[in-house]
Amino acid sequence: MQSDTFVRPEIKDFSPYSPGLSIDEIREKYALQRVIKMASNENPLGVSPLVQKTLAKHIGGVFRYPRSGSPDLRAALARHLDVPEEWIVAGNGSDEIIDLLIRVKARPGKDHVLLFEPSFSMYRLLARLCGVEVRTIPLDEDFHFPWVRMLQSVTEETAVVFVTTPDNPTGYAPEVQELESVAGQLPPHVLLVVDEAYMDFARPMDEYTLLPRLKDMPNVVVLRTFSKLYGLAGLRLGYGVMPPWLADALIRVKPPFSVNILAEVAGTAALQDIDFTRATLDCVITGRTYLATELERMGCRVFPSQANFLLFKLGRANRNELSAQHVFQELLRRGVIIRPLKSYGLDEYLRVSIGTEEENQIFIREIEAVLHG
Ligand code: PMP
Repeated sequence: MQSDTFVRPEIKDFSPYSPGLSIDEIREKYALQRVIKMASNENPLGVSPLVQKTLAKHIGGVFRYPRSGSPDLRAALARHLDVPEEWIVAGNGSDEIIDLLIRVKARPGKDHVLLFEPSFSMYRLLARLCGVEVRTIPLDEDFHFPWVRMLQSVTEETAVVFVTTPDNPTGYAPEVQELESVAGQLPPHVLLVVDEAYMDFARPMDEYTLLPRLKDMPNVVVLRTFSKLYGLAGLRLGYGVMPPWLADALIRVKPPFSVNILAEVAGTAALQDIDFTRATLDCVITGRTYLATELERMGCRVFPSQANFLLFKLGRANRNELSAQHVFQELLRRGVIIRPLKSYGLDEYLRVSIGTEEENQIFIREIEAVLHG
């Protein structure tokens, strides 16, 4: 059967999400002993020991369906965040919450969502799949948010505005007062989704997060994930914090078992392993300063980051005028995977996730060899 005529015609304009290359693929391709991955903003320390023990304990229970609504996790999150349980919806990654929010809020064929450009690719993909138009507003030159232009773009048909803070791929985070003021200026029919996937790494966090102020904001949702600080990217677990009437709407349409049994127990345990989260934060925050200092010493232009990655341009370090893509490829051959940003329209930029102390040193040594070798 011809897929051209069988599936919705617009599907051929989609391409599969490309997460980049895996360690095994690079090891095999270049016959390398050691490959390090600093490309997907994952936890450099891996999985918490308490989570591993908890997973082993619950593996025998996976023949049962999970309990709908992840009640244990919801209760643990409510305590952890100091918000009522009714405000929390857990999902199969925060990707699922993004999808549900678009579906319950935006009318296909009528409404649109507003995104900054560049931004995380899933907002666009999920809106388009839902038949909702995507309108974009370019970030300012320094990658700050052009709030005035965004507010001027709002119409009766604006259903959702997405803001990522700290932003991906830039690492930039506006002060929370700025976000609060924007939320207050949006008309009440617009939902502001503040994606705080990387907020755990912001310092000091209370200068950037909107979460403690949510109860006074009827049209704002905050998204968080277990994929970064808590090291559970492969289990798929995220959540949204939102007014209870909106949480109720999401729960009406959410596939009942999208958060699996292991994800729920792992997430609950991850919140308890304070030693592991503290070690991760120490590693990321120290590593962030180290990498920024070293890249700048070489002459790269590094953008200030509140996240667990750094955006940089080769700048003065690039005496041999290599393209960012070439540097990325050369690093691959040397067993270091970072992220080129062509898919974000930032051809001359690179993004590196903060690794362990040893990984950070290897990356610096190898990029220096590629640039000046
Ligand atoms: N939002 C942003 C800004 C992200 O960068 C990511 C992960 N790359 C996500 C959401 C998705 O997180 P999850 O793994 O919870 O689906």
